[in-house]
Amino acid sequence: MTCALCGNATRGRLCTRHRDQLAAGLAVLPALYAEVGEYLVPRRTGWGETIPTRGSAGPRSPVNEDVIDTVNWGRASEVMRGWREDVRRVRWPHRGQAPAGGLADDCRWLTGQLDWICDAYPAAGELTNEVWELEQQARAVVGDLLPKRREIGRCISVVDDAGTVCGAAITHQAGETQLECETCHTVYAGQQSLLLLLHYQPVSA
Ligand SMILES: [Zn+2]
Ligand SMILES: [Zn+2]
Repeated sequence: MTCALCGNATRGRLCTRHRDQLAAGLAVLPALYAEVGEYLVPRRTGWGETIPTRGSAGPRSPVNEDVIDTVNWGRASEVMRGWREDVRRVRWPHRGQAPAGGLADDCRWLTGQLDWICDAYPAAGELTNEVWELEQQARAVVGDLLPKRREIGRCISVVDDAGTVCGAAITHQAGETQLECETCHTVYAGQQSLLLLLHYQPVSA
């Protein structure tokens, strides 16, 4: 047989590359659309004021309508629900409706069916295309999901003879193996120094 999308030889409906593309899309969609949800409500106006997200009486809609028009959590959920129901119907015609679930449940369920989808699902190519489109639309709004810096505590380094503690935020990003204070450049590396850092965190934080 040949791949439904690129025509490369394969023993099922999708080649390895397109199978991987589908798997990656199903894995990332829920997180992408969770991010899209955050973009629906702009957090600040140009004047630095926070727009209330609920109960706003003002004339200006708190919702970013550009985003709603192009990328829509509800639509993504609906589309993926439709695919889940179709795969279920084709594979198990005698079972009833799929159990209720959100976008994340449906993507996870479809991931569990990946072998069968690639081997035997007649619409495997369309499914892969649609997942790809949803993924691209969301990425156009939120950009790539780069790992975010997370604040893990305060710098405990003493920076002068009076015993002043630096106190700057110490942040960590996935993949980093040591921590460095951007203010005083103290490096926290190794178990001992990380334990000290945690032990001496300010109590109220
Ligand atoms: Zn292919
Ligand atoms: Zn510091």
